[in-house]
Order: sequence, then structure tokens, then C-alpha cells
Amino acid sequence: MTRTNKINKKLENKYKKIKKKIDCSKYIETCKAECCGIVPIPLDIFEKHKEKIGNYKILPSPIVDVVIPVNNFTGKCAFLDENCKCAIYEHRPGVCKLQGNIMEMPCPYRS
Ligand code: SF4
Ligand code: SF4
Repeated sequence: MTRTNKINKKLENKYKKIKKKIDCSKYIETCKAECCGIVPIPLDIFEKHKEKIGNYKILPSPIVDVVIPVNNFTGKCAFLDENCKCAIYEHRPGVCKLQGNIMEMPCPYRS
């Protein structure tokens, strides 16, 4: 297991323990998934799901097993679809799962 995979696993475990998780579907019309900007994706997740996306470029990453795929038109994460939904929602990286769920990564829309 690479260092990136270990970190991702740790974040996912942290997410699993959160009791009251944010329901982004309640806010998506307003927030337009503004947190899904330029997000590093672990290479194994990217490789497994890259066929779900198109019109993207890969930004340079200082870490070898992390990919930063960006939609050519929106400049946002390539996994974000035109309806502001994540194409890999169930499999999204731990860092995405924690967004809006921990103090260090607050969501201004959460009520
Ligand atoms: S965490 Fe907040 S900004 Fe991000 S998709 Fe959910 S509601 Fe929207
Ligand atoms: S992987 Fe999904 S949740 Fe994470 S930034 Fe991209 S679209 Fe948003």
C-alpha cells in the first residue's frame, strides 16, 4: 500500500465514524458543488474510473501516485458532471468525503 493509499484509508475511516454527515443534495442547487475545484485524486481511484469522464487534462502533481484531472471547460474536478454531481460519488477520495463534515473542512452552506 502506497503512502497516498494509507492517507486515503485514514481519511475514509475518519469519515465512516462521523455520525451526522452532510447531505449535499440539499444544497447543490445553491452551492453548485463549489468545493469540487482542483482536487488531487489517488491514482488507483483515477485509473478505475477514468472512463467515466471526458474532455479533461491532467495537471502536474508533485506526488507520483496522485492525479489532478481537470475539466477542460469548467476548470473544476473532471469527475464533476454538468449537474454538479460527482461521477464517482461512492468511490470519491476520503478528502472529498470529509468536506463539510469536519471542522477543518467546513461547508458554508451546511445548516
Ligand atoms: S460540501 Fe458544501 S459546497 Fe461542497 S457539495 Fe456539499 S454542500 Fe456543496
Ligand atoms: S472526486 Fe467528486 S467529490 Fe471529489 S472533487 Fe471530484 S467531483 Fe467533487
